[in-house]
Amino acid sequence: MWFRLDLRLADNPALIAAAKNGAVLPVYILDDDNAQQWAMGGASRCWLHESLSSLNASLDNKLLVLNGDAQQLIPLLAQRYQVNEIYWNRCYEPWRIARDTRIKADLSAASVNVQTFNGSLLWEPWTVSKADKSPYKVFTPYYRRGCLNAAEPRQPMPAPDNLNLWSPDAGHPHDDLSSLGTAGINSLNLLPEIAWHKEIQTTWKVGESAAQQRLADFLDAGLTGYREGRNFPTKANVSRLSPHLHFGEISPNQAWHQAKMAGAHLQAEDDLDCFLSELGWREFSYNLLYHRPELPTEPIQQKFKNFPWDTNQAAAKAWQKGLTGYPLVDAGMRELWQTGYMHNRVRMVVGSFLVKNLQTHWHIGENWFWDCLVDADLASNSASWQWIAGCGADAAPYFRVFNPTTQSERFDSEGGYIRRYVPELAKLPAKYIHAPAKAPQAILDAAGITLGDNYPLPIVDVKASRERALAAFKSLGSQVRLED
Ligand code: FAD
Repeated sequence: MWFRLDLRLADNPALIAAAKNGAVLPVYILDDDNAQQWAMGGASRCWLHESLSSLNASLDNKLLVLNGDAQQLIPLLAQRYQVNEIYWNRCYEPWRIARDTRIKADLSAASVNVQTFNGSLLWEPWTVSKADKSPYKVFTPYYRRGCLNAAEPRQPMPAPDNLNLWSPDAGHPHDDLSSLGTAGINSLNLLPEIAWHKEIQTTWKVGESAAQQRLADFLDAGLTGYREGRNFPTKANVSRLSPHLHFGEISPNQAWHQAKMAGAHLQAEDDLDCFLSELGWREFSYNLLYHRPELPTEPIQQKFKNFPWDTNQAAAKAWQKGLTGYPLVDAGMRELWQTGYMHNRVRMVVGSFLVKNLQTHWHIGENWFWDCLVDADLASNSASWQWIAGCGADAAPYFRVFNPTTQSERFDSEGGYIRRYVPELAKLPAKYIHAPAKAPQAILDAAGITLGDNYPLPIVDVKASRERALAAFKSLGSQVRLED
């Protein structure tokens, strides 16, 4: 059983099938060789370290962990341990599809049977398409017309109760695994040498049972009021399931069906509908990536290839560090750095600020998120950045620029989120916390703030930069409808 983005025992179709067929050798391979540019970023590696440790514990410490090119390692393992069937759940990243196709061909040439399953999606990309068989490009018809009229996602399945685990230690006590790549979770060196990840470790509980607990807590305390509350970063109305879903510690089927049960019980139909549709956005992202493998690098709307991006590196650095002088943007970027997560509303605000107010290429944001997010996911991250940049399939129009100050006043009105992540502003009254540069000097003095010294002055003027962005957009020769 080759584990990939399905680090769980329950509702794991490949594992369940493998268990039915005899003794199972569970394997994980860190394959940076094939991932190349999309090898996991720093925060994801920290998560993976914990997640593999948790999976290994639930497999009686029998998980065989290897490091290297899976295209070489999988056939080698099959040959060495005389494996006649290999099971895995399908992945949809272009590099994984290409690699797995090659591995499957190599294995079948060696008479090893491969069985693959759907363990990560509610609807695999080829199962939902328009009447003319072409893929949907717009979310609402994709989800409402396509997905909701397709087969209901299957019910989750329990963990196999007949799991007969086999490990090389048992069969070959003195086997030298070094020729298969370094073995053992610690030898993957997933944790950073300089311990910047401590807050990530204290923020999250990782692994299958923690994921189940997270879902249960959310359904208990967050689902009611989700539709409205999900916009407010200080409210507990979001599930924070994204890293668990990304690594497959929980399946979308478990989330979907448990949410439906809880929603019916709570009579929270509207909130349930909204939550399920967010799971739908995850599906839509995978659908886009599958049909547009160039999604992570190429704008879907070709005219954006000629966009005059600003190459001011100092501004992009200030954004990364959370030192833009716009408190909500800074709070979001620091939440990301400290915890590996950022609330969705704030992701949209910081994304819009980078791409529109700083006119910086969306790739800079995409790559920074890739390195810093514990839920970094090629499909959701690329689709979301294209959406924010206005160049995606079903994108926020380019002229819709989020105003970071009014967003802050609306969604963090008391400044609780800002105070938490930008502590130097903690003593400012709510009235001024959204735009410290507009506060009277006496108020700044009383709060211990010296602008330009212990908190930056705004690095751009939002109005002027918005106009500049719109002019750049117009230069592409597009019709710009001006609205806010
Ligand atoms: P909830 O509101 O509880 O939603 C439940 C689940 O639905 C999430 O866990 C997630 O799996 C899915 N979901 C929700 N919103 C979206 C969305 N817009 N697109 C796709 N799936 C969604 N999400 C990632 O999982 N990985 C990423 O790398 C990622 N990068 C993003 C980059 C940008 C610029 C933006 C604007 C959004 C990005 N998102 C990404 C989407 C979204 O912000 C997160 O999925 C969400 O904030 C996770 O928090 P949650 O689990 O509490 O969400």
